[in-house]
Amino acid sequence: MLLPTIEHPTIAIAGSTDRFPVRRIYCVGQNYADHAREMGSDPDRQQPFFFSKPADAVVASGATLPFPSRTDDLHHEVELVVALGAGGRDVDVRGAEALIFGHAVGIDLTRRDLQGAAKKAGRPWDMAKGFDASAPIGPLTRGAPPAAAAIALTIDGEVRQSGDLSQMIWNVAEVISALSSYVALAAGDLIFTGTPAGVGPILRGQHVCATIAGLDPIEVGFAR
Ligand code: MN
Repeated sequence: MLLPTIEHPTIAIAGSTDRFPVRRIYCVGQNYADHAREMGSDPDRQQPFFFSKPADAVVASGATLPFPSRTDDLHHEVELVVALGAGGRDVDVRGAEALIFGHAVGIDLTRRDLQGAAKKAGRPWDMAKGFDASAPIGPLTRGAPPAAAAIALTIDGEVRQSGDLSQMIWNVAEVISALSSYVALAAGDLIFTGTPAGVGPILRGQHVCATIAGLDPIEVGFAR
């Protein structure tokens, strides 16, 4: 048998034919107080915690996705995603923004029923969070994200999540700094920075659109 050739995952860059190569995808949990509360946590006593998705879980805008297997409770989480153009370890909060190549809106798709069972049993979240096509991400806008901007998600045109980036518990620089104390960050890394309240189910046949003011949206449909 021949050695396989593997296509490296990339995401679009707004206004450019260049593509951003994806190295790793990290996600921060419960970074908005109202979402932490809806998940049954106390936002005041949390420290940032992280999980990851495979790099090839990225999905471009306009895709129609097969409905994920092994779930009866697929959830949407609209999030700001930052893309790193440089890395480091133990990055100081003041130096963190200098690592950012660009930012985009993404959807942290979650098999909530599997996540709930994993939490209850003290088991890993990987199959709840890191499944195939679990990371739709819109085109990257170059530069660091604004500290405040409207963030929202609609299903079939109906608003399900609506918040503002200014509601984050840990800002983007603090997220990057904290994550870099656990792992060495590098160019090509993506970080999902958490979701505001209003997470809920996506049903077969529905169309999801996520937005952050000033950025290209990410839109995906789900097969029946
Ligand atoms: Mn999330």
